[in-house]
Amino acid sequence: MSFLINRTRLSLVVLLALLTTPIARADGPYPAHKVVENIYYVGSNDLAIYLVATPKGHMLINTGFDETVPLIQASVKSLGFKMADIKIILASHAHSDHVAGHARAREASGAKVYVMTGDDKVIANGGKGQYLYTDSRWRPCPVDKVLKDGDKVSLGGTTLVARHTPGHTAGCTTWTATVGKGPDKKLVVVVGSPNVNPGFQLVNNKAYPKIAGDFARTFKVLNSLKCDYFLGAHGNYYGMHAKYPKQKAGAKVSPFIDPAGYRDYIQLKEKAFRDTLAAQKKPSK
Ligand SMILES: [Zn+2]
Repeated sequence: MSFLINRTRLSLVVLLALLTTPIARADGPYPAHKVVENIYYVGSNDLAIYLVATPKGHMLINTGFDETVPLIQASVKSLGFKMADIKIILASHAHSDHVAGHARAREASGAKVYVMTGDDKVIANGGKGQYLYTDSRWRPCPVDKVLKDGDKVSLGGTTLVARHTPGHTAGCTTWTATVGKGPDKKLVVVVGSPNVNPGFQLVNNKAYPKIAGDFARTFKVLNSLKCDYFLGAHGNYYGMHAKYPKQKAGAKVSPFIDPAGYRDYIQLKEKAFRDTLAAQKKPSK
């Protein structure tokens, strides 16, 4: 009997931990690599972090956890770049696994931090004010500029476009960039996150009343993008662990060009959103 009670208690503790933490702690390194042109992967095994290198300095999308920052530094160095040349730090969304390292990366580089409206206060307050993950905290990071949908962030001839894709967080951001010239132009999309996490309340949510409308808007935006290079806030969004080895083995066409993979992924995530919404709208008996 007491064994059963303990087990129940244990599973409750595990469940609570799952509901209050977006993901597990920091993970190991992953080989830094070029994705296309001046866009490089400098993330960990799970947390996708991108360096956009230009002659006028670099932009960094995401920083992972505080303890991920040394991995980024090692990756940046291995590619022949300098952390001190990072001028702008950006984010996919204000969950600890993407932005808890912002303060450390900002200090290490002297970069400015630009954040989408909706996520700016959460980052500035070190995690306070998040929906659902009320116990998740990190070192507060000053925000130098607040962005809105469609804002362009340009440096050294490269322009990143910030698309506001809220729902997963209020300021979730999908980054796009155009690479190539003329008929060879291609769109790079770094998906911010279309995920309805366990415990997300889509109906009658007092903490985040607009959540369902935000997700619906996000899928409209994501469906409208003519994605060629499919990237995202985690390597597993776009199958990095299968694609990078193909590139390394000398694939003639970049495995990261994957418009069909992008469409399938967005469709799958939109279905998950619609199914969860329908289930939560059903009156409980
Ligand atoms: Zn997240």
